[in-house]
Amino acid sequence: MDLSTLKGSIDLVAVVEGAGTELKRFGRLHKGLCPLHSDTEPSFVVYPDQHFRCFGCQEHGDVFDFIQKLHGCDFKQALGILGIKQGKLTTEKREEIKRLQHRRELVKAFRKWEIDAADEAAMLCRCCRKVLGEIKTTAHMDKYGNRYHDLETYAYHLDVLVGDDDQAKIGLYDAGYYG
Ligand SMILES: [Zn+2]
Repeated sequence: MDLSTLKGSIDLVAVVEGAGTELKRFGRLHKGLCPLHSDTEPSFVVYPDQHFRCFGCQEHGDVFDFIQKLHGCDFKQALGILGIKQGKLTTEKREEIKRLQHRRELVKAFRKWEIDAADEAAMLCRCCRKVLGEIKTTAHMDKYGNRYHDLETYAYHLDVLVGDDDQAKIGLYDAGYYG
């Protein structure tokens, strides 16, 4: 494997985050506090072409430059840190990357479910309110009265789904709601 193929197989965002720097996505860019100088505002940018640039300390380069600057090491040591031996990613490193990618896909699927589920819960709330609004007789009440309970449930779900409590959301997800 040549160097540029090798480089293409290493995700710079994952490497930077793996080094403990949290990056936030802005369109096609990722930004965060620069791990190469003491940064007070997010000056560190990772571009889609797998390069980084810091607008604070002006450091820039590819994943190998990043590791060398971060650890103050040479190119060969950087390869070792990145899990590259004899021009190839080690099996452990490949598996680690696979695990991280898998995790990111799960998070993405979960965020999509969250949005769709909130839409569905809101729709179910509207349906329940409509049915409840049409109850006129005790016969209706016997037939549709349990919609009160349903409405409570869906309204609670909706609260959870539009809120910030990921654990509660995961609870709904795992219980198979809105799947
Ligand atoms: Zn910097």
